[in-house]
Amino acid sequence: MFIYNENYVSKKEGYYYSCPWLEHGLVFFQYKLANCCFCGHAAGGHTLLRNNFIGQNIDWNRIFKIKDMFRRYHKKGKIHQNCLGCPFLKEDTWADNGHYISHLYISHWAKCNAKCIYCFETQHPEDFLEDKRYSVLPYIKDMFGKGILSQDTDVSFGGGEPTLLDEFEDVMNYLLDNYFYGIRVHTSGIRYSPAIARAINEIRGYVVVSVDSGTKEAYEKIKQVPCFDKVRENIRKYALQTNFLSRFLVSAKFIIVPGINDNKSEIEKWMKSNKDAGLYTTVLDIEENYYLEHKDNIPYHIFELVEYARKLSKKYRTNFELYERLQNVYNNYKVKKNPLLALIKRK
Ligand code: SF4
Ligand code: SF4
Repeated sequence: MFIYNENYVSKKEGYYYSCPWLEHGLVFFQYKLANCCFCGHAAGGHTLLRNNFIGQNIDWNRIFKIKDMFRRYHKKGKIHQNCLGCPFLKEDTWADNGHYISHLYISHWAKCNAKCIYCFETQHPEDFLEDKRYSVLPYIKDMFGKGILSQDTDVSFGGGEPTLLDEFEDVMNYLLDNYFYGIRVHTSGIRYSPAIARAINEIRGYVVVSVDSGTKEAYEKIKQVPCFDKVRENIRKYALQTNFLSRFLVSAKFIIVPGINDNKSEIEKWMKSNKDAGLYTTVLDIEENYYLEHKDNIPYHIFELVEYARKLSKKYRTNFELYERLQNVYNNYKVKKNPLLALIKRK
């Protein structure tokens, strides 16, 4: 449903509120096709392109007609109810409204080999059934053949553990054989993937390994599997695929889980291990359930931890990145701390 909201009526001629995913995004979920995979704001995100999708034929004309419908409504200030308040909505001309996909996300809900205490999969294992899974490779081939995908499409894998998909190596190798160069894989890091190693080696893929800890003890509390050493070893092996300058292609992500790893000692050990493995990245986020319950009153020490990590990142000369949830609350915190930032942002 689209709802008129005067905050989203652009005053600039030819501009309207949209986002890169509404314009040119597609997500393969287990049971649906959506414009985006974002759901960190109150309205819910995941705007639908097709429900009850379990591997049927896709009518691409229909998919692009739906995207055109979003554009028409958004131009009138009528915003999809799931997009209201989304930090990715922005005012632009969105001049290129061609029928192609520039952001593809494969969120397949493959069973995972970790059991993170915060993960939906751990809480709802019944939703991760092997026999309910469809293959995405035929759709990727079809889209590529029709020019809907091209080599500069960003392709991301996440949602469950992609390296456990039967087709994972084939999908990756198909993309690499066809010269795609913007591939991002979110993985537990427990299974080593030769295709991920190839993507890094050819400087066309980026891997984000979920570690969330600097010690085996914290890892096992959060991940509930005894795989800390194996994951650290796989991270090192991926990093060895790259030369000195391209080590930013491998990152070991840390999700802050209050009560378990929200202390400087874990952050410091995690960053030191990353540095020793030769990584040039620092990626932080905060646990989703905690975030949803506390996003308006995140304790001060969490921001201190972020600032501590930022300082260490500067010392180790790593690229510092906050993921969506932490980025939202950290921006608000910085504005509260220094209201001038809000004025600068508005200018
Ligand atoms: S929820 Fe946000 S990211 Fe998703 S389509 Fe709407 S504006 Fe874009
Ligand atoms: S690694 Fe990712 S998919 Fe696997 S249990 Fe943890 S959060 Fe869930």
